[in-house]
Amino acid sequence: GSTLEIKDLHVEIEGKEILKGVNLTINGGEFHAVMGPNGTGKSTLASSIMGHPHYEITQGSVTLDGKDVLEMEVDERAKAGLFLAMQYPSEISGVTTSDFLRSAINVKRDEGDEIPLMQFIKEMDEALDYLEIDKNMAQRYLNEGFSGGEKKRNEILQLLMLKPEIAILDEIDSGLDIDALKVVAKGINKLRSDNFGCLMITHYQRLLNYITPDKVHVMMQGRVVKSGGPELAQRLEEEGYDWIKKDLGIEN
Ligand code: ADP
Ligand code: MG
Ligand code: MG
Repeated sequence: GSTLEIKDLHVEIEGKEILKGVNLTINGGEFHAVMGPNGTGKSTLASSIMGHPHYEITQGSVTLDGKDVLEMEVDERAKAGLFLAMQYPSEISGVTTSDFLRSAINVKRDEGDEIPLMQFIKEMDEALDYLEIDKNMAQRYLNEGFSGGEKKRNEILQLLMLKPEIAILDEIDSGLDIDALKVVAKGINKLRSDNFGCLMITHYQRLLNYITPDKVHVMMQGRVVKSGGPELAQRLEEEGYDWIKKDLGIEN
């Protein structure tokens, strides 16, 4: 498996420091959850790793197996084995899910070694079946007119098809009804192996009822302020974040 290492990451948006020294290491085989109140920098963390141009990295490093991720172009990050749900545009006019997936798979493969069409169709059909996604979705333009739930299922379809080393999923559970949530969890759990590590960013404990994280981290005010096991998420569900603020002497 691969290792994603985030060290002392400081990030600014429009001159304002949002991340103030984030440290996190995700190894292959591990599922990590990052939780925390709204506005604490969780999405900023995901977007910074993705390479969103709006975010200025002022200090620290992000490496994948020792290679500098922050120096890579966005497509190089994917090729290196990172999956960042948000790296894909929300809508691509005139590109079907199927076309998009096939080219995304081929970007990861060496030139001249494109995935054979029949193999691609077989793998896609299996993944669609597994995720209980209507086969017609593959022929629809990506995300055009998709419901919130369909978009999330489509992201998990991408995840299953692209088989990344490390995935970063920002609020993959938001806005899902319980059936859609179970399907999303089923997809993520299917990938569990030594060759897959996952960072799940979520505001709610609910997702973690279906995907048991190995480690849970709490972010507040631009830093990871507490880490623990699944029991930490449970306590947050029951008691909220106030006890952590109190422990750390953070004002509301
Ligand atoms: P979270 O995902 O934990 O809710 P965010 O990373 O979205 O938090 O936001 C962290 C902080 O950065 C917030 O104070 C938010 O207002 C600010 N922020 C996020 N994105 C932008 C942006 N594009 N421009 C200006 N401020 C932003
Ligand atoms: Mg937010
Ligand atoms: Mg967010």
